[in-house]
Amino acid sequence: MTEIDRGLIAQLMEREQARFAASHPESRRLHERAAGSLLSGVPMNWMTRWPGEFPVFLASAEGAEVTDVDGNVYADLCLGDTGAMTGHSPPATVEAVQSRAARGITAMLPTEDALVVGEEMKRRFGLPDWQFTLSATDANRFVIRLAREITGRPKILVHNHCYHGSADETVAGLIDGEVRPREGNVGPPVDPAETTRIVEINDLEGLERELRHGDVACALVEPALTNIGIVLADDGYHQRLRDLTRETDTLLVIDETHTLCCGPGGYTGVAGLEPDVLTIGKPIGGGVPIGAYGFTAEVAERILAHTVAGAADVGGVGGTLAGNALSLAAARATLTEVLTDEAFEHMIALGERFEAGVAGAITERGLPWSVTRLGCRAEYMFSPRPPHTGAEAAAAMDSELDALLHLYMLNRGILLTPFHMMALMSPATTDAHVDRHTEAFAEAAGELTGV
Ligand code: PMP
Repeated sequence: MTEIDRGLIAQLMEREQARFAASHPESRRLHERAAGSLLSGVPMNWMTRWPGEFPVFLASAEGAEVTDVDGNVYADLCLGDTGAMTGHSPPATVEAVQSRAARGITAMLPTEDALVVGEEMKRRFGLPDWQFTLSATDANRFVIRLAREITGRPKILVHNHCYHGSADETVAGLIDGEVRPREGNVGPPVDPAETTRIVEINDLEGLERELRHGDVACALVEPALTNIGIVLADDGYHQRLRDLTRETDTLLVIDETHTLCCGPGGYTGVAGLEPDVLTIGKPIGGGVPIGAYGFTAEVAERILAHTVAGAADVGGVGGTLAGNALSLAAARATLTEVLTDEAFEHMIALGERFEAGVAGAITERGLPWSVTRLGCRAEYMFSPRPPHTGAEAAAAMDSELDALLHLYMLNRGILLTPFHMMALMSPATTDAHVDRHTEAFAEAAGELTGV
């Protein structure tokens, strides 16, 4: 295995920062002006997380490519961290949005599009009843409330290093074996130890122990972790999770927001999972805000028996713009014309190409790194073997290498998801986009190892 010289990382970083500054003068100008009206010069604080001294400002994006305000063109493997897994502005979605926008955007009334989307979600995920929100976070938030309501239990269970949006109960982690607010948790309303049980993915003993307390309303899990790098579930893990949740009368909620990358029905479709409830958001509207949750007939019955129809507008589950006509028009076009079964075949083949390219360079240079793929999503990690738990994945994080490689890629016309080394393929992504990354990765590996 090749050791990486920390001094060399710093040296390369300095060179890449200079290259970035020279090629992004207009982004710098806009960022400086933005400091006069936007906190940290960005419309949302996480946009400061891009590599480089200042964020790149978007001019336009189409298909799998992004053009910035300086005219630099990128192969976009970030795809809005999955919000644009469809490729940017897919023509079918754009047309549906234009048509709907001219005929009423939100009216507090259902449209026929909602039925088509509900029917399509049922076909893909096998769950009969659906509701729509504005984001995946909202879907998770509402499902947690509903689960507590219909089970009469106070807690939820999540995986360590999960991410399900900003739902309060999930912004927590295992620290020295205790449930604590996760680092950086802003203003937690209560101590999450009161609301949340946490286990590592693949820890069957821990899972059984925590569920047997009998106070967990629902287990809310991604079928593989994707927000601390990719951590895959062991064979048999999901079967045991399903058995234990059934034995303990705990609802099983599968969050497919990112794992839709596995296929048209997400991981649930590929692995034949049987969740009681499924949540999703991000790409299903082609970039237009929408989230959704679907559930079994039994859960539907319990919801109706436990909720007060007359208080549906003020009961803590809702949102004036949720289910709006525009979001559902976008979702109808996206699901029926863009994220089709055939599109996934193309996307997953590209995921395999990306994985093979990265694995080849890792082997050739003897780097102590690994690459993991989940459908059309792939990620490289700075550990010799793919991590088996969230804690292992967190331990493999290397902020210096992470920053350098993101900037290195950016300077060579490639966008990777800013939070870790993750790449996603869209229907518009091509072999050439993937190969551009493979070449740049091999170049970086060569420079870092001097081989
Ligand atoms: N669930 C998962 C698995 C996610 O990865 C995310 C966001 N990364 C969310 C939910 C929340 O999505 P949003 O921020 O669009 O509400």
